[in-house]
Amino acid sequence: MIQIESLNKSFNKLHVVKNISVCFNKGEVVSVIGPNGSGKTTLMKCLLGMVIPDNGTILFDNKNILHDWNYRNDIGYMPQIGRYPDNMKIGQLFEMMKDIRSNKDDLDEELMDAFKLQSMFDKPMRTLSGGTRQKVSAALAFLFNPKVLVLDEPTAGLDPIASEILKEKILKEKKKEKLILITSHIMSEVDDIADKVMYIFEGNIKFFNAVSEIKKLANEEKLGKAIAQLMSQTTHA
Ligand code: ADP
Ligand code: MG
Repeated sequence: MIQIESLNKSFNKLHVVKNISVCFNKGEVVSVIGPNGSGKTTLMKCLLGMVIPDNGTILFDNKNILHDWNYRNDIGYMPQIGRYPDNMKIGQLFEMMKDIRSNKDDLDEELMDAFKLQSMFDKPMRTLSGGTRQKVSAALAFLFNPKVLVLDEPTAGLDPIASEILKEKILKEKKKEKLILITSHIMSEVDDIADKVMYIFEGNIKFFNAVSEIKKLANEEKLGKAIAQLMSQTTHA
């Protein structure tokens, strides 16, 4: 569904994405893990067309994304830090998004309901807590029933109940053969939901394996421990 080939991105002298090649398929939950500053957000933004890579190609359903922007209608994006007009009310934000998007016949308001956002529709965005802002971002990402979801550190700032609601939703959408990419710097966080883990370190893919494989390779039951062990092996190698 998404093929990335020899992708590079530098910000001035800082080489952030280093010759990354990888494929993501439908029906997968892929967790993109790595320390802060390793290039996860930049890689996701390249997929979204928000950062233009220096070279390399990205194919979405076999089409080069450079030549056709329409693929973006098929992606729901939850940014790491959601920025919204300060004085806009939550309800107005949802209305505006519906106005902008063309594919609004098939709305998915499940997260909006589960997070009880309707009861806060009159609140201006500037008054929201970080957690509520995250809930708004999550509900918007799923709203247009996209076939790909890019969630950048989605549970950061969410309370435990909201995190569970989001995880349940991710698993539900995965069953509909969607591709879900989730970045995180917390290794244990994705144990319940990810099928595959891609570990990025300083712009390189250190490994990209099925969760079961990673646990077997490291001989560890817990994904967090298994990843830590594999990382110490690869950095010493
Ligand atoms: P991660 O999401 O893994 O924490 P990022 O992709 O956000 O990492 O950032 C990787 C590196 O690129 C960091 O050193 C960051 O400061 C730098 N960076 C990201 N975006 C920009 C930008 N627009 N201009 C300059 N440097 C950037
Ligand atoms: Mg990031």
